[in-house]
Amino acid sequence: MFTFLITNDDGYFSEGIKALREALKSLGKVICVAPDRNLSGVGHSLTFNSPLRIRRVDEDFWTVVGGTPADCVHLGYYLILDGKKPDLICSGINEGPNLGEDITYSGTVSGAMEGRILGIPSLAFSVFGRDDVDFAEIAKSAKEIVLRVLEKGMPEDTYLNVNIPNLRKEDVKGFLITKQGKRSYKEKVLKLSDPHGKPIYWITAEEFGWRLEEGTDYWAVYHGYVSITPLQLDMTNFGALEELKKNWEL
Ligand code: MN
Repeated sequence: MFTFLITNDDGYFSEGIKALREALKSLGKVICVAPDRNLSGVGHSLTFNSPLRIRRVDEDFWTVVGGTPADCVHLGYYLILDGKKPDLICSGINEGPNLGEDITYSGTVSGAMEGRILGIPSLAFSVFGRDDVDFAEIAKSAKEIVLRVLEKGMPEDTYLNVNIPNLRKEDVKGFLITKQGKRSYKEKVLKLSDPHGKPIYWITAEEFGWRLEEGTDYWAVYHGYVSITPLQLDMTNFGALEELKKNWEL
């Protein structure tokens, strides 16, 4: 029987994690450890400067009060699983996509990244769409990929960023291995006033979009395919490493 550790960044109450839990239950034991609030955009932060509490929500389902997705994976592995490696760590299913450079902000992707740091094959799942999402349908594609990973494995030091189009499973065109795309949207800072007339600011975007370049994560989901992007922990730019050595003559 397989053991899965799952987390998310939308909070333990989100529909996405419930659907993922249900889908994976048919394959083995599913331990859920998720934040107690929506922490989308929290990135890969770990809580060092304050203590954390864990509360039981349901059978094999826990929430970390104030904990980030990386905290949840950490505590799930070291405490709840007592350091026994699960077969897979899964993060999601996130409400909304994680494409292009946005993955650097993503708590969902960071949950999978933390799993990979702990030496466990890990995947992040997100849905390309925010309205009228049937997460049980989206979870069918997630389960198919999990089965493939269990059967075929994945390369060392790799974790997968999966984005699934917001379609019924039978309308999904297929699965594509992709590269990380590039976003094209304009950042914006809204200037507003609080009730006392003091300025407050809200970081947002004028319009969301990514470059429609063939072979990228965005191209795949835009055309109705599930996008599977292999990511790595080593962020070294090997091309620049050689260039700097040569040009700087150090
Ligand atoms: Mn989220």
